[in-house]
Amino acid sequence: MPSDPPAAPEPAAPADCRACGVCCFSAAPDYVRVTGADWDRLGAEADHWAHFLGHRAFMRMTDGHCAALAVRRGAGGGPDFFCTIYAQRPQVCRDLDRSSPQCAGELAAKAGRIAALSGAPATPATHTGR
Ligand code: SF4
Ligand code: SF4
Repeated sequence: MPSDPPAAPEPAAPADCRACGVCCFSAAPDYVRVTGADWDRLGAEADHWAHFLGHRAFMRMTDGHCAALAVRRGAGGGPDFFCTIYAQRPQVCRDLDRSSPQCAGELAAKAGRIAALSGAPATPATHTGR
């Protein structure tokens, strides 16, 4: 009797999140929650990066990912994903550790979508809207 085909391997987290960026991608406008403390941390730029949907604030989303994510050509030729507000990023981003179960879930759900970005522009994408 033939056995079941082996399950596809789970995508592994890279050694550097800049080679991944998967957890910064979503089409949902309420993907990245911005709490009151997050809003304060964003300071004078809070209105630029975040907006209110009803009574709650969230990071703005651009081109299918968080507006604060820059996608540029890395030294090896592949895309390089860079959080432009790393020091001020929301708590939900701080809480997502690389190689954690949540990270693995993000990779399993969305890694294929990011692979399509292998043709990312050679210059940094402008997501600042300035
Ligand atoms: S935390 Fe995980 S999903 Fe997010 S960028 Fe890093 S490796 Fe990718
Ligand atoms: S704030 Fe930075 S780490 Fe958080 S989703 Fe946006 S780009 Fe990613």
